[in-house]
Amino acid sequence: MREERHYINGEWVAPAGGQFLDVVSPATGEKIARVARGNVVDVDLAVKTAQDALEEWRGRRPLQRGRVLMSIADMLRRRRQEFIEMERAETGKALEQAAGEIETSIQYFEFYGGLVNAVNGETINLGDGYHSYTRREPYGVVGTILPWNAPLNQAARAGAPALAAGNTVVAKPSEATSTTLLWMARAAVEECGLPPGVFNVVTGLGPEAGAAIVKHPLVRKVAFTGSVRGGLEVSRLAAERALPLTLELGGKSPNIIFEDADLAIAVPGALRAFTVNSGQICVAGTRILVQRSIYDEFINQIREAAAHLEVGCTTTANLGPVTTQAQYDKVKSYYEVAKADGAVTVFGGKLPEQGEYGSPGGWFVTPTLYADVSNDMRVAREEVFGPVGCVIPFDKESDAIRIANDTDFGLAAGIWTKDLARAHRVAAQIEAGQIYVNEYMSGGVETPLGGYKLSGYGREKGIEALHHYTHLKCVTVKLS
Ligand code: NAD
Repeated sequence: MREERHYINGEWVAPAGGQFLDVVSPATGEKIARVARGNVVDVDLAVKTAQDALEEWRGRRPLQRGRVLMSIADMLRRRRQEFIEMERAETGKALEQAAGEIETSIQYFEFYGGLVNAVNGETINLGDGYHSYTRREPYGVVGTILPWNAPLNQAARAGAPALAAGNTVVAKPSEATSTTLLWMARAAVEECGLPPGVFNVVTGLGPEAGAAIVKHPLVRKVAFTGSVRGGLEVSRLAAERALPLTLELGGKSPNIIFEDADLAIAVPGALRAFTVNSGQICVAGTRILVQRSIYDEFINQIREAAAHLEVGCTTTANLGPVTTQAQYDKVKSYYEVAKADGAVTVFGGKLPEQGEYGSPGGWFVTPTLYADVSNDMRVAREEVFGPVGCVIPFDKESDAIRIANDTDFGLAAGIWTKDLARAHRVAAQIEAGQIYVNEYMSGGVETPLGGYKLSGYGREKGIEALHHYTHLKCVTVKLS
């Protein structure tokens, strides 16, 4: 069976503890590989390696760093198909989704490769007699801790701006989905001119390898993407040493359909918003708020649209299996939770027949929608992270805003209306980091992403992310 080791200083490195973790195919439930179980010794090696590589990398002319990032983008484009298949094997993603995520990973390297010269300070006018200016300096060694739902994409999202700003990186992918990042790191060194030690990958478990990164005294910044539980644990560790942190956590995002919405786009848009990537998307629009005057019509149309969704592992499937056994068990448990709370099933709500969508061992779940949900039901309050949506009726615009904001999260929201004044008015009042109007999940590598409330803090993506990978220093010189 394939055995993956850490990638440190441009070499495969066996785990110091000699232990490996099983990697299981979501499509079949069979073991497909083993991945190194990293510990403090492995993390210490990777961090010291990254520290050693720092001076040369941060001291380079930014254009030279940019060229390396562009070259990584070119490499991924050249080997696109290979990375798509690697990613699908461990995540179970639909082909279209995997292809889209690899394309976005490429764009992160292109975007930040082109932005290396935007990491600048400014001069500050203090009048004659002084020269004052700011410098944007890399933190040093940055730790990136990553989830399993979009493995390479999230690794590139955090890694590319960190590298562009002149930091070196120790990345820890999820133990379920480490392969694409390991092989990207290797190809970056061997094919793209990235100096060994600038980007290192330590695999393993969160409380072991992940926590060791956060605690390591030479790590000067951590970017964590994952669950609220994991994020809060990391933030407690980080607080003990005042470590700067970006937290990109979960969501329970509202998707508001006003009565003047164009249902021809709002219905497929709302369906896609909670089913794409089998619902394993942090910004998924899982609370669909529908104005009462179009409520029945909306339910009828979305039921009809969902009948065309294809679940499975074929090249045309819209939804693959969910990625982990734990996620499968979690999604399954919400069928009972919703039923117990009195939600009405519009479609789904139970597991497929054994073998209905593929191998009987695969972690397949059915797209599920509940109607007549009230915002205090558990299915409306807790992140399921599977293809499970709920429809909540509302009467007035102010009710929609109140319900939308009545959540512990604040990651994203959708608004569907032909009235642009209303769109801007509602967008301003929703407590969330991303608002999509008339197209859910629109935007790109250029648009900043981050949360309000329990969805986290700091920002990834866009020019904004570069600020989160740099210290700001102010220098003031008395001239006379
Ligand atoms: P998770 O918190 O279980 O794990 C995320 C990463 O953190 C993994 O690498 C894990 O090993 C590590 N980790 C866990 N506990 C740790 C600890 N105590 N110390 C250090 N590291 C630790 O999350 P997950 O199940 O892998 O991912 C799903 C979650 O991620 C969902 O809640 C989803 O909404 C969220 N997510 C957020 C975004 C975003 O941009 N806001 C994007 C994708 C996923």
